[in-house]
Parts: sequence; C-alpha cells; structure tokens
Amino acid sequence: MRLTSRPARYAAAFAAFGVVLTGCSSEAGNQASEQEADSSASVNTEASFEAGTTMAELNEAGTITIGTKYDQPGFGLLNPDGTPEGFDVEIAKIVAGELGIAPEDITWTETVSANREPFIQNGQVDLVVATYTINDTRKQSVDFAGPYYVAGQDIMVAAGNPEGIEGPDDLAGKTVCSVEGSTPAQNIRDNYPQANLVTYDVYSKCADDLTNGNVQAVTTDNVILTGLVAGNPDGFELVGNPFTEEPYGIGLALGDTEFRDFVNDVLEDSFEDGRWAEAWDRTAGAITGEDAPEPPTVDRY
Ligand code: GLU
Repeated sequence: MRLTSRPARYAAAFAAFGVVLTGCSSEAGNQASEQEADSSASVNTEASFEAGTTMAELNEAGTITIGTKYDQPGFGLLNPDGTPEGFDVEIAKIVAGELGIAPEDITWTETVSANREPFIQNGQVDLVVATYTINDTRKQSVDFAGPYYVAGQDIMVAAGNPEGIEGPDDLAGKTVCSVEGSTPAQNIRDNYPQANLVTYDVYSKCADDLTNGNVQAVTTDNVILTGLVAGNPDGFELVGNPFTEEPYGIGLALGDTEFRDFVNDVLEDSFEDGRWAEAWDRTAGAITGEDAPEPPTVDRY
C-alpha cells in the first residue's frame, strides 16, 4: 500500500539529505521518523526454528547485529536519532522481522567497505547489508544470500563535466577517488592503471574531495553516486554509463548454509509479496524517481 504520494516521498528523501549536509533540522528529523514508521518490515511473532540453528539462536536472543553503511543516501544513511535508513536498512529489517526481531531490537553497526569480511569473520555482526557485491574472492571468506539488487560501477564528476569524462578510459591521467576494499577501487587498479587512484574509507570523503577540486572524479556503484548527486545537484553529475555488474548480497558467516538458505527464502518471499518493491520505492526509488526494477534471481550457489 502506498501511503504517501511520490512528491511527498521525494520531500522526505531530500529532507534526509538536508540532515547530512546541514547537520540538523527538526523538520527533517520528523520526516525521517515518518519514513521509519512506514517500514515494510513486519515482525513474525510466530517464527520458530530448529534448535541449534543461527535462526533459533537469534530468535531466542531477540536481537541481531547488522552491519550497514552510514553515509550512502538511499541505501544506508545514519539519522540524527542514531538509526540508519535506506534500502539496505529496509532489507535488513525484513530479514530481522522474519526472525521475530523488531526493527528497534536490531543493533546497527557501521560497516565500511574494507571491514565487511573481517566483521563477519570475527562474529562482530550477524549479517552485512551494505551495497555488498557478491564475488568469488569474497566468497572465500564469507557467504552471501541474494542478490537482492544489481548495481553497476559508474563515475561522478563535477557538474557540467569540465573534464569531459564519459567512461573509465577517460580517467587516464586524471585523479579519481574510491573506497579501500571496494570492487570499484580494485577494478581501477587492475584495469585502468593510467588513472591516479586515491582511496578513503568512505565515499562521503570522496565527495568532499570532488567538491574541493582535489580529485576530478569519484567512482563506485551508480546507485551510491546517484544518492550523492541528489545531495548536491548543483555540484555533482553522474556520467551514467555503468561499466560493471555489482550484484548486492547479504553477507553472513562462511559455511552457515541453513542461515543462508533462510535469508534467501526471505528475500524471495519479499520479491514476490511486494515488500521488496515497497522498500525500494520509499528509499532509493524516492531518490532516483524510478519505480522498482524487476528483482534479480537469487543465486543459491
Ligand atoms: N558494491 C561495491 C562493493 O561491494 C562498491 C560499494 C561499496 O564499497 O560498498 O565493494
């Protein structure tokens, strides 16, 4: 059920950006909590699981620790009240809800790109939902449910595109910013060595560098860049020629097949019953202005 009109949802999304850019506004805070109240996640109070499974342990504990991004509008962005919002956050709430855990009982942890595998391996988080590309290298240390979305690497430049950057080949001789431990940074290192790559721990620092003229481009997934452009439309522009496929998965402990199967089942149910599309519309979709795409096919590798 669509509770708000699209313009109202735009307003909520841009109010959320205002929080990032200006630090605080009570109006923005109110709208953010309205979004929160709008959550597609319902709590399955009847949930019960076979003893000894991760699902049973989490259900019994009544809490789950989930890693997400805190500086990516539309996917994972920290609200002034200390809770994150975005598409990844909504997907995480749907999974927690099916474990019988209410959104307010989720312990959120910021996972930046480089600490996702170690946080899962050390047991610091139970799940990572953080624009997390499924790939073979990462599958050696963690398992993935999903994908639940497929993004593509793209480039963000200063508004007006003064350097005329249309794709990754145009980065030769230019300074481009990305994030350590991300697939886009690795792709530039491996395949575009003529580009001068600068890395930080989070993308918001790359955006600051583009504003200051320290770098001429920022590269990561198109949907992350779209969120940054929406936060500063006069300053930034998306090139809009994605050149990779980035299937987003939910990271969990390597070898926990029962838990992975469970999360995959929840994802598939949410694709079918409309919760996934509703979550998209209220978060990332409110920024792009595009309706939810067809959900991808879960890969039970
Ligand atoms: N999806 C890519 C990755 O997992 C880039 C986005 C990010 O760094 O979170 O590395």
